[in-house]
Amino acid sequence: MCCWLAVIAGAPALAASGGMLSIAVSTRTPALGDPVVVEVSANGAVDNLVLRWKRAAWPMREIVPGRYEGLIGVDLDDPVGPAVVAAEGLLGGARVRAEVEVTISPRKFAVQELTLPKGMAEFDNATLVRIGAEAAELSRRFSRVTPPRWRTPFLPPVEEYRPANFGARRVINGHPRMPHSAVDITLPAGTPVRAIADGQVAFAAEQFFGGRSVVIDHGGGVFSVHFHLKDFSVAEGQEISRGDRIGSVGATGRATGPHLHFGVRVPGGRVDPTRLFALPGR
Ligand SMILES: [Zn+2]
Repeated sequence: MCCWLAVIAGAPALAASGGMLSIAVSTRTPALGDPVVVEVSANGAVDNLVLRWKRAAWPMREIVPGRYEGLIGVDLDDPVGPAVVAAEGLLGGARVRAEVEVTISPRKFAVQELTLPKGMAEFDNATLVRIGAEAAELSRRFSRVTPPRWRTPFLPPVEEYRPANFGARRVINGHPRMPHSAVDITLPAGTPVRAIADGQVAFAAEQFFGGRSVVIDHGGGVFSVHFHLKDFSVAEGQEISRGDRIGSVGATGRATGPHLHFGVRVPGGRVDPTRLFALPGR
């Protein structure tokens, strides 16, 4: 059993049949942008086990018989306050549920004022249509939920991981824009980029904002996003192992210089990759 589980949070729930389900979380006070590891234990095998978070159901991974793990998160734009994480399933034929309340705490994000040439900040209609279609296509990829393949610890996508700008509230040429939902890592063009965990390539193509972009599905609703690549060496559908080279740092798309824009999506939203890499290994 790992360190983060030292504090067992949440009361065990007793099923009518006497089956018992309990739930524990890696933190009960996650801040905006924090990932949360959830562990569920039962005194028997649980059928149809799902993790309930933010009005959706997510699959969990069996670690050993009767013990399951899931990864959820608090989106950088979520409201602060109490929220409930629950697990539900069938144990000995009876419905069981266990839940734990967490308190989402605020986090201060930087405000970043950027001045960009007009051509990088204002777009004609055809470009706006392209941007909208590309965003819709990416969210379609993010909506697929496959069996969990990720494992802690996650591997940073570059050897010299120096993150900046997560959650930055951006003001571009005086106009407030969406918060920056990823980190930017400034590195020379050509620096190798690698997979943070096992998975399957869910998207590998060129986009207006992201330039050459790769999204990897790590299962269970967990995705990693890599933008502005100089090149990529993977194709959609390809199976990927943790540490595999997927491409290299570049400045394609809307980028002012070579850097890796790296984001992570988990059930519940966009989380701070740096907090993900801080999760201890099992
Ligand atoms: Zn970025």
